[in-house]
Amino acid sequence: MMQIDILTLFPEMFSGVFGQSILHKAAEKQAVQYNVVNFREYADNKHSTVDDYPYGGGAGMVLMPQPIFDAVASLKENAKSKSPRVILLCPQGKRHDQKLAEELAKEDHLIFICGHYEGYDERIRQHLVTDEISIGDYVLTGGELGAMVVVDSVVRLLPEVLGNQESHMKDSFSTGLLEHPHYTRPAEFRGMQVPDVLLSGNHKLIEEWRNKEALKRTLERRPDLLEKIELTPEQEKWLKEIKKDFE
Ligand code: SAM
Repeated sequence: MMQIDILTLFPEMFSGVFGQSILHKAAEKQAVQYNVVNFREYADNKHSTVDDYPYGGGAGMVLMPQPIFDAVASLKENAKSKSPRVILLCPQGKRHDQKLAEELAKEDHLIFICGHYEGYDERIRQHLVTDEISIGDYVLTGGELGAMVVVDSVVRLLPEVLGNQESHMKDSFSTGLLEHPHYTRPAEFRGMQVPDVLLSGNHKLIEEWRNKEALKRTLERRPDLLEKIELTPEQEKWLKEIKKDFE
């Protein structure tokens, strides 16, 4: 079972996300255990203060190292795994993506540190964490939403979490491409038709259509992805045909 510890000043934010849908079911199935900890509990000063003014002056408060170092030490002490990944949510970190989610899904213990205010004391970054992850090039008020995004992307990849194990293997990015379009009943909705091939019952043709549509969609929306993957000779051939159609 994967252990996920979250260090935050706002633990209540997680109850909705971890208590619903697939993330909740994953815990019920014992694929994952969540432990949300308020690191203020580890502050060793009279008023449980966790932040202070920045040395050198300037706007905003900075999270002090002591509560976070001690909270992580305590989580590590009680952990089964000897070397958990200690992840700092941070707009300056490595941009999160499917590859990183797949890598993290192989771990058995993840500790997430959610920042707030102006940021962290730099010594946390330098001496405590193994990874810094950003969820995109914008600045949020805190790391909680980032931690939720990363946890969601990881937990859905754990074995037995999704009903149909195949369903995440064909997702956008897992294959290196964007996924093909989907349709469901009715076959005609207000004059809009489902492509005939999907109603044909011919699995080989359906598979070929899906492959081509995935290539087409990726070419239209994210041509950068095509530069990063090695296509099969068949995909190369289809891509050439698709490019011709675009001309
Ligand atoms: N002053 C910091 C800077 O310019 O890099 C931004 C601090 S931000 C207001 C407060 C906290 O929100 C950060 O410490 C981090 O935990 C979280 N955060 C903000 N943007 C994020 C992003 N894009 N990805 C992940 N976490 C983010």
